[in-house]
Amino acid sequence: MSSSQDTGRSVLRSLNTGAVLRAVVESGPVSRAGIARATNLSAVTVGAIAGELLGQDLIVENGDTDATAGRPGRLLELNSGAYGSIGVKLSDRSVTGVLTDLRSKVLAEASRPLEHPSAEDFVRVLRDLTTSLTADAGMDWDRLLGVGIGLPGVVDRGAGTAVYSPFLQWIDVPVAELAETALGLPVIVENDVNTLALAERWFGRGQGVQDFLLVTVGQGIGLGVVLGGELHGGARGGVGELGHMVVTDADEACSCGSTGCLEAVASEGALLRQSEVLTQRSGSDPVLDMDELYHRAESDPDHADLVDVAGERIGRGVANLINVLSPELVLVRGPGRFEGSRLAARMTESVAHHTFAGLAGRTELRVEHLDDMPWARGAASLVLSELFMSPATAPGAKAMRSGRIQ
Ligand SMILES: [Zn+2]
Repeated sequence: MSSSQDTGRSVLRSLNTGAVLRAVVESGPVSRAGIARATNLSAVTVGAIAGELLGQDLIVENGDTDATAGRPGRLLELNSGAYGSIGVKLSDRSVTGVLTDLRSKVLAEASRPLEHPSAEDFVRVLRDLTTSLTADAGMDWDRLLGVGIGLPGVVDRGAGTAVYSPFLQWIDVPVAELAETALGLPVIVENDVNTLALAERWFGRGQGVQDFLLVTVGQGIGLGVVLGGELHGGARGGVGELGHMVVTDADEACSCGSTGCLEAVASEGALLRQSEVLTQRSGSDPVLDMDELYHRAESDPDHADLVDVAGERIGRGVANLINVLSPELVLVRGPGRFEGSRLAARMTESVAHHTFAGLAGRTELRVEHLDDMPWARGAASLVLSELFMSPATAPGAKAMRSGRIQ
């Protein structure tokens, strides 16, 4: 057999292995026959791959099928606790990390303050954080599959670089390479909102949904796009800069250097800045956070207007996305007690108003709070996603190919 045939065979095996693991994750506990039906692979192929996965400790046999005729088959399920994944969320003020099992259950979490870090500062803290999470979870270092890092801005996942992060003031920083050298583990870097979308796709509201969008309204306004069950990255990972969609002629300056961006007029920072102008003008008490702002809007007409305008603008942005992509589901996560807030209500009305009539009723809109905790868990699911998707096709596969499980 020629070496190209060898290569072809091993690539195909990788594709099939990803498909079998995915079937176990999505349908387990499941019999070998059930996997064969779900993947369209032959019983022989499924049997061989299942044997390999059992040998790697990635899956276990657990229970039998209820066979009404013939021999009952053993059920296979993910061996959730056998391996761990580290997820790290980097912001301009702190680094938060979690260690999860293969089902994204958090086994340990830790946080370190870090003001406007350089890449070198970050890698030093990352090493310390990884050591402490591993000790806390009681997991062996050689059972770590890898490290996922989520950070704000444009990230080239394939190259492992932070292309441009205004919050961190990083340009073309080779984050994955620096971190892999420091840790000796595979490292995947991704835009932070994309990591949240991936966590939803595998373990949250996006399970079983082919096309969905995740919109986050916080310090920035971000977007994760899942199409056909896969995270859509675009050219060099540039998808998702919803915050820089131009929604108004108003000349509020944006951190990106442009004007009229959604983020400059409707993000948490923008709303609190606008509120400060109002309270200074009226001599009333300053509003310190978004929950206070929602509360003030109940009694103060100027704050009510401010929230209404922001809700309208966010809603236009979301409706424009629905009109272009026609997703099944849009999750919008916002600051403070966003669900039930006036901001969420106005945004929902605006989405309904601006969605193309032919698409109305086809997209479910869900409004939820944006908590801090899921970010690092989302980053950990980067590594898990790489494992479940076929290594041959998943973006950033380079990192996992050098990893522990081939
Ligand atoms: Zn902008």
